[in-house]
Amino acid sequence: MLREHSYDVIVIGGGHAGTEAAAAASRVGARVALATHRFDTVGVMSCNPAIGGLGKGHLVREIDALGGLMGKVADAAGIQFRMLNRRKGPAVRGPRAQSDRKLYRQAMQVAMRQQSGLTILEGGVGDLLIEGRTLRGIVMEDGRQIEAGAVILTTGTFLRGLIHIGEKRIPAGRVGEAPSVGLSHTLSQLDFKLARLKTGTPARLDGRTIDWVALMEQPGDDPPVPFSFMTDRITTPQIACHITRTTPDTHRIIEENLTKSAVYSGQIEGTGPRYCPSIEDKIVKFGDRDSHQIFLEPEGLDDDTVYPNGISTSLPEDVQEAFLKTIPGLETAKILQHGYAIEYDHVDPRELKPSLETRRVERLYLAGQINGTTGYEEAAAQGLVAGINAARQTGGQDAWTVSRTDAYIGVLVDDLVTRGVSEPYRMFTSRAEFRLSLRADNADQRLTEHGAALGIVDPDRLNRFRNKQAKLDIARSRLDKVSLTPNEAARHGLALNRDGIRRTGFDLLSRPEVDFDLLCRIWPDLGDVEPAIAEQLEIDASYAVYLERQKADVEAYRRDENKRIPEDFSFLGLPGLSNEMQQKLQATRPATLSAAARIDGMTPAALTLVLAHVRRLEQTREAQRGAARA
Ligand code: FAD
Repeated sequence: MLREHSYDVIVIGGGHAGTEAAAAASRVGARVALATHRFDTVGVMSCNPAIGGLGKGHLVREIDALGGLMGKVADAAGIQFRMLNRRKGPAVRGPRAQSDRKLYRQAMQVAMRQQSGLTILEGGVGDLLIEGRTLRGIVMEDGRQIEAGAVILTTGTFLRGLIHIGEKRIPAGRVGEAPSVGLSHTLSQLDFKLARLKTGTPARLDGRTIDWVALMEQPGDDPPVPFSFMTDRITTPQIACHITRTTPDTHRIIEENLTKSAVYSGQIEGTGPRYCPSIEDKIVKFGDRDSHQIFLEPEGLDDDTVYPNGISTSLPEDVQEAFLKTIPGLETAKILQHGYAIEYDHVDPRELKPSLETRRVERLYLAGQINGTTGYEEAAAQGLVAGINAARQTGGQDAWTVSRTDAYIGVLVDDLVTRGVSEPYRMFTSRAEFRLSLRADNADQRLTEHGAALGIVDPDRLNRFRNKQAKLDIARSRLDKVSLTPNEAARHGLALNRDGIRRTGFDLLSRPEVDFDLLCRIWPDLGDVEPAIAEQLEIDASYAVYLERQKADVEAYRRDENKRIPEDFSFLGLPGLSNEMQQKLQATRPATLSAAARIDGMTPAALTLVLAHVRRLEQTREAQRGAARA
């Protein structure tokens, strides 16, 4: 048997999960290979050319705070930046950037080439080498066998991928690329629970054939706010997008042809993303609306392709052509590539430990769309976690997990491994119970020191972060030292409750009518603070009261989280627990009491019961250990 080389970690798939996984594992210090079909598709954005958004932008900032790639690459490729929800509180603001597809791909490929300790293996992977229950390596489709200490599977929509356009069905991982059938077969032979999901994409249009003059322009933010804590300024030229809408005629044509849509003809078995529906879905589900918004997003600075965001479809080509003609500005638009839906296999993520290693096969990790998520950011975040843990495992270190109290990444992984998915999972701010503290602006404060402890943050980033933190600490201590009574405040035009209580500068900063400039007029000594530091303190102050209130909840959560449930603990036959709950717990195997609490249908009484049984098991084991020692 020919066995070529061997690596600590092999990552299969060069998409958004795979690139982040390969880079993270290399940063931990592992010798890594990225095995992917073609290097020139590394970093391809399969669907919309945009990064970030609500909840997703938070993930990008967290990946960046941990030394990851996505933020920097999105900054290099971004051609329109917008801070979504700008009028709402900073906790729910989401940075988003539309990307130049080609620049994104190029920047990601450069990052891969520059990553030390990383080898690229071009070609399809057809099988996994497994001995007993332990992973030993991979088999390339050309027969090469390559050994590895751990493997991360990040094959996206490629597992038995099937494209649907009307009644046409084309086996593909995405348009023009072959599906991955061998690996899907391997996973089902290993008894992994697989299911079908679907997603879709709209037609691509030739921008030169769109009547732009008739449309409303949507400019980006000026100045654009970068994703990465390492980017000072966006230097890529910025463009405007345009907005149009569907019309009653569009809706009529789609309704008349619904039975030809792959989704409505019953041809597709998989469940699609509820929050990113096709235009057919929107028209059926929101029948009372006679118009839906469409964002026309240029795909690049030197590319005439336009992505019409909001009208993904699996209708036949002729129907797509007919309905586009009814949309203002698109009457004579030429289609460059028709829209399609794609169905693919995913693995039930409850098969995974919080490290993203599978329970069934040791040293095999899964990350990205294969775990039932949708979106580049969700994929990248999982890639980072799997990359860190696969590398740590091969280096003999414990798995790393991050709590829901500290990061959206923690929320994502915990939701997946404890609750599973019934539709493609995407991140929202509403999924995070501690979202007041998990803000996009403070991701570095929450995570960069963790990253340093893991060895995945480079010295430049760490120095920059520590400098910023030192400036924040100095400015904060100055704010804590100055104070005013309500009477003194009134002399400066500030109307406070006449309660005689002295308030510090930081207390005052939490008030909406007070900003740093105003405090500097009262206390000129506060003055020499950079605008970014002043803004950060304003945000910190405005949340301080809420965070104080949230503290007790966070502590209670962490207590449960620290209560670990032994991996071999059996939930089957636990007296007092319904059969259904026993089965659910046994299938999910929550690693902690807090993970058990989030399983659907779990009641406080059932949780107390589980805790009592876990304690009893621990006491029995402790007694056995004591007896053995004696
Ligand atoms: P991918 O980015 O798909 O990368 C998979 C990689 O694995 C590829 O590089 C591929 O070449 C490689 N690979 C696969 N099999 C093998 C093998 N056997 N051997 C070697 N290499 C292999 N997301 C949204 O948020 N909103 C949307 O509306 C949306 N619509 C989408 C529409 C379509 C048609 C598609 C295809 C995707 C859509 N997505 C959407 C999803 C988004 O593209 C994915 O969530 C994201 O790309 C997942 O990243 P990933 O790394 O898991 O997989």
